[in-house]
Amino acid sequence: MGRTVAVLSDLHGNLEALESVLRVLDDAGIDERVCLGDLVGYGPDPECCIERSRSTFRAIVAGNHDHAAAGLEDLNYFNPVAKEAMRWTIRQLGPDHKEYLSKLPLVQHVEHCTLVHSTPREPEIWDYVMTVDDALRQRESFTERICFVGHSHVPFFFEYSPQGYTIPQLPRLELKPDCRYLVNAGSVGQPRDGDPRACFCVYHPDEGILEMERVSYAVAKTQQKIITAGLPHYLAQRLGLGA
Ligand code: ZN
Repeated sequence: MGRTVAVLSDLHGNLEALESVLRVLDDAGIDERVCLGDLVGYGPDPECCIERSRSTFRAIVAGNHDHAAAGLEDLNYFNPVAKEAMRWTIRQLGPDHKEYLSKLPLVQHVEHCTLVHSTPREPEIWDYVMTVDDALRQRESFTERICFVGHSHVPFFFEYSPQGYTIPQLPRLELKPDCRYLVNAGSVGQPRDGDPRACFCVYHPDEGILEMERVSYAVAKTQQKIITAGLPHYLAQRLGLGA
């Protein structure tokens, strides 16, 4: 078997989801783990998720929630629920963790892939890739074969071909030699595609294969922690819905 790289995004302080995914990766003998940012925000375990990420990932890029928690981003960017959760998160983090988050790079390159939280075109603007036009705008903004993004918490494959583009079906994709790819790895800690299971992507560079994976975790435990912490109840609800 060839090498394997697991791409995890949007952990959002959900330790149960993160630990369940890492257990699966260990059991499967996955070689490398990288992270597309948003280690914190929304979830009840920001410090534990930072510590676990620090010791686990070969590369991590910053998400907008990481920058907000580090004081680099205006909180008015967030909707009321996200803002309330971010104020709570900021109170939990010590200066060491805030400094760590503030120093995460916006873009990294691993295994001929670009890693970025939002878009390769303007990583610091935190735009979303939601439509075909959004995806097409990114085409010339990265030079690697694959660019992995997160941010919307909705997984997708997008294939740039010499003739134009296609949107390959999840969950498995065989890469074509003359194509390049934009891939959203979904979210480990707060999926929003209607499936509450943690989502991530596994890249097999030698075989040229991408696989979107799902892992169940103890959602009820995270929900209880959210309530106990005094975070907005909606954040517990949405985890159960994957919304
Ligand atoms: Zn996020």
